[in-house]
Amino acid sequence: MIGLSQRPGRKLACQQAVELVTGYLEGALPRAQRRRFEAHLTSCADCPEYLAQIRVIIALTGSITPGDLTSRMRDDLIGLYRRWRADEDQGIR
Ligand SMILES: [Zn+2]
Repeated sequence: MIGLSQRPGRKLACQQAVELVTGYLEGALPRAQRRRFEAHLTSCADCPEYLAQIRVIIALTGSITPGDLTSRMRDDLIGLYRRWRADEDQGIR
């Protein structure tokens, strides 16, 4: 079982979800996007943890700008993508 068709889709969905996180926390998402985001959270192992981490950061700092969140998210995402790439290499070889 290779499952090549699932990994790229999951990666893309997570990337889109991460881009929606700041809007979601600000309550700025249109209802359709918000529902899509929440649907992804229920089917993803990583994004709910990620959202929880960001909520903790906001609770600790009191105020955090979307720009700060984005740079923090990028750092975290690099780690996630490295993990997924390692999985893909193993699947191909
Ligand atoms: Zn995800």
